[in-house]
Amino acid sequence: MYLCDMHSHSRISPDCDIPLRDMARAAIGAGLREFCVSDHHDLLDYDGFPAGPFDWPAAKEQYRTVKAELGDRLTLRLGLELGSAPYDPEAARAAVAQGGEELDFVLGSLHNWIGYHNNDLLDMTSYRGDEPMARRAMESTLDHTWTLVTRLADCYDSLAHISYPLRYIRKDGICLAMSDYEERVRAILTQVAETGHALEVNVWHGADLDSWPQLLGWFRECGGELVTVGADAHRPQDVARGIPQALELIQAAGFAYVATYERRKPVLHKL
Ligand SMILES: [Zn+2]
Ligand SMILES: [Zn+2]
Repeated sequence: MYLCDMHSHSRISPDCDIPLRDMARAAIGAGLREFCVSDHHDLLDYDGFPAGPFDWPAAKEQYRTVKAELGDRLTLRLGLELGSAPYDPEAARAAVAQGGEELDFVLGSLHNWIGYHNNDLLDMTSYRGDEPMARRAMESTLDHTWTLVTRLADCYDSLAHISYPLRYIRKDGICLAMSDYEERVRAILTQVAETGHALEVNVWHGADLDSWPQLLGWFRECGGELVTVGADAHRPQDVARGIPQALELIQAAGFAYVATYERRKPVLHKL
């Protein structure tokens, strides 16, 4: 198996204070061959306010320094987790453009409840114990994911954690599942496949392995070929957690390859 982790954070992200050097050392310790730092750039912050520009100078300086230190011990990639692109397409495109030639990989994600209060969906006060509200949160995410994949295809390479709201909704004891939205999810996955994009299997440092057999099955039936993996670590001990299991799930779903990205082009590695 080609061990790679294409979703990880560092101190450039507002919710992480770990230098990339420490995350990359953890990646080597975990036996990874390839590792991508994909710091957050959410166009809406946690509280729903428009965010300023991404700090590309700091991100690139950190990346270049650590890459030079590591030499050939690890293939280090420069990525970006771009959140809420449909909220402000112009800002999203500007952030990607500023990544320039060095940018290897863009994860397209949605963390915020756009158009309601714009807060991060992790803010469970929005729907605590209220199933109709939880359904609205899920539907809003799917609506905006549809916008991302149909109108902003240039703003992502891999569709990040499609089931993000369920992480928090389920913690609150509400029984929603992706299968409740199968038709809409399949339409999204078809669009991802037809436009040559990837689906991210985000195992959330090993805490979410259960969602993926079904989603991978749908993606394959919808014509999907490109799959990336990410542990979504914000701490060194979470780097690569769940990745070996993710690769097994991808193989079991009938995919022959896992994808990594270099300069925004997929590179396939046999499973
Ligand atoms: Zn995310
Ligand atoms: Zn993330």
